[in-house]
Amino acid sequence: TAPSSDRITMKRLDVSKIGAAQVSEALKRPSQKSADAILGIVKPIINDIRENGDKALLSYTHKFEKATSLTSPVLKAPFPKELMQLPEETIKAIDISYENIRKFHAAQKEDKPLRVETMPGVICSRFARPIERVGLYVPGGTAVLPSTALMLGVPAMVAGCEKIVIASPPRSDGSITPEIVYVAHKVGAESIVLAGGAQAVAAMAYGTESVTKVDKILGPGNQFVTAGKMFVSNDTNAGVGIDMPAGPSEVLVIADKDANPAFVASDLLSQAEHGVDSQVILLAVDLNEQQLQAIEDELHNQAMALPRVDIVRGAISHSVTIQTRDIDEAMRISNEYAPEHLILQLNNAEEVVDKVMNAGSVFIGQWTPESVGDYSAGVNHSLPTYGYAKQYSGVNLGSFVKHITSSNLTAEGLRNVGQAVEQLAKVEELEAHRRAVSIRLASMQK
Ligand code: NAD
Repeated sequence: TAPSSDRITMKRLDVSKIGAAQVSEALKRPSQKSADAILGIVKPIINDIRENGDKALLSYTHKFEKATSLTSPVLKAPFPKELMQLPEETIKAIDISYENIRKFHAAQKEDKPLRVETMPGVICSRFARPIERVGLYVPGGTAVLPSTALMLGVPAMVAGCEKIVIASPPRSDGSITPEIVYVAHKVGAESIVLAGGAQAVAAMAYGTESVTKVDKILGPGNQFVTAGKMFVSNDTNAGVGIDMPAGPSEVLVIADKDANPAFVASDLLSQAEHGVDSQVILLAVDLNEQQLQAIEDELHNQAMALPRVDIVRGAISHSVTIQTRDIDEAMRISNEYAPEHLILQLNNAEEVVDKVMNAGSVFIGQWTPESVGDYSAGVNHSLPTYGYAKQYSGVNLGSFVKHITSSNLTAEGLRNVGQAVEQLAKVEELEAHRRAVSIRLASMQK
């Protein structure tokens, strides 16, 4: 069919004319396929990998990726130079991004353990240790996503994870994109698993003859990848953790009268081109008809010039502009929506950050398009979607470490806290617990 030339426009609502229920209705995320149906598809795949290891993994790659010439599912480091041949400018771009992401995540390191004396002689500490083995899923298929490899690989390297395994579906000729090999090399990955979907997740969760079993799996992916991650993280036999639930990408832009309509439209579109299920929201703070129209004209004109205009059209169809009276009203709506990306195209953007309660990552002021965060500024782009920004953080250095606590008491410390322990053990009727204290206190009397 011929490409449509229909006007690409977001529906418009005015908060002062509608109720709170209508605002919530307009901000609903596009519904997702039921998890049960997808689980029905991925469970047999996962079982097959557990039972048949590499052989099953290869057969799925032959089937889904059409990479029938592939004979080994894993590429081990050191990776051959000829697999990472790239144009000079791409290498330079990856190197700059790598360095900024490294700097920002290295600064998140806790240089010394936390140590608190809660009572005289009672010392509580907390210290971080890297997760030893991590599996990083980099979506593949037609897209080339070196940025995702960077956003997962660099913090894993900075955290000191001993084994970094990257999984990504190969191209139909069995090769992996050189950008991913180059990033894998830079972050010191031990191997690249040439597989995708639930089968790649299962291979990393349980291990196969050639795939290293990992302790945590991170990274975005389609519904099969997500269902696979949820399944293995619930299986105590796998003993594997995952990062967070992932859904389609989204952005919420708050713009005031001073915002440049072309900038606003470009930010909305840079999310809308991700996928038809992406959602973009504009909160227009006290804009008049002419200003709203200017943004809408820009949106249409810029969209029509994009190669991915059809995807944009899909995303825009469930996106909305909401007119608000002031910034506080806009912030209330934004905090309730809890966007993955929040862009503040506001005159006093920096001050407004104080009012942000729920968001994955914030982009402040007119010179900060979201794309800088997607690639090169240094912040992470693996962020909570679907409103999960209310309770989850995006991927950060902490995603690759766990915290261990310790207590260290002196005799005086045990004398100080012992009675409270004995009494609570008594209340819970755990006599051995009580005695572990009383035997020691008694031995001090001798
Ligand atoms: P993918 O790597 O997530 O999934 C490909 C795999 O899906 C295949 O290897 C195959 O195993 C599996 N699969 C496909 N059809 C199947 C079926 N019928 N039954 C069982 N398994 C099947 O790649 P994709 O599909 O291109 O999806 C990419 C995803 O990543 C999108 O959902 C997109 O939103 C997301 N994404 C995220 C980021 C990011 O946050 N960094 C960037 C781009 C894309």
